[in-house]
Amino acid sequence: MLSISNLHASIGTKEILRGLNLQVNAGEVHAIMGPNGAGKSTLASVLAGRQDYDVTSGSVLFDGKDLLDMAPEERAAEGIFLAFQYPIEIPGVSTTNFLKTALNEIRKYRGQESLDAVQFLKLMKEKMKLVNIDQSLLSRSLNEGFSGGEKKRNEIFQMAMLEPKLAILDETDSGLDIDALRIVADGVNKLRSPERATILVTHYQRLLDYIVPDFVHVLYKGRIVKSGPKELALELEEKGYDWIKAEAEAAV
Ligand code: ADP
Ligand code: MG
Ligand code: MG
Repeated sequence: MLSISNLHASIGTKEILRGLNLQVNAGEVHAIMGPNGAGKSTLASVLAGRQDYDVTSGSVLFDGKDLLDMAPEERAAEGIFLAFQYPIEIPGVSTTNFLKTALNEIRKYRGQESLDAVQFLKLMKEKMKLVNIDQSLLSRSLNEGFSGGEKKRNEIFQMAMLEPKLAILDETDSGLDIDALRIVADGVNKLRSPERATILVTHYQRLLDYIVPDFVHVLYKGRIVKSGPKELALELEEKGYDWIKAEAEAAV
């Protein structure tokens, strides 16, 4: 589904991703961990198509198509969901209205007809039940005055509504408390399916107690320097990153 080869990306003159490789197949959940400043959020941003990053070499294929060649809206329409894509506060725009617009834009891109009010409401109800979100939250201005947990629930709801093929969640800086962890985990687990994949960027081993990943990767200095099964996360929790850093430096 996603194939990242030798990806290099910079901000200004600073190279942050330095030859990153990653393969994600449908049905898989990949956790990306690593020390602060390694480039985890940069990777998520580059996949989302944020403008401030220059991709200097390498390739990213999504379902065989060149992702780097697509505008952020096209990426969304192709089925990529970035959890931090929509946490912005939009005064005067409710989650409901926001999602209706987003969903119909995506459908238009795919050559599908817009959902009418009845179909949209039906979908909303189904997904509200799935992620256990309250109607009142959805009619308020998007993210305005939302608590951390409400933002998370809202984000997961958006993900459920948009039914992405590939969801990328960057949980690094969100200061998740235990309730928010459960909300995210529950949502990701419910949306797990053989057709879908998830990339979960986190430095909380705890999150991986709830979402059991198929693979764990360690990103260090802009590259994935170690990959392993879910047990790798436990090893990292126990031993920290120093041994990985030492291994990576010795390999250079
Ligand atoms: P992580 O998410 O793994 O903690 P980031 O991807 O956020 O790491 O950051 C990687 C490196 O890029 C860090 O050294 C950080 O300081 C730098 N960086 C990130 N964003 C910017 C920016 N907008 N301008 C300059 N440097 C940045
Ligand atoms: Mg960081
Ligand atoms: Mg980060």
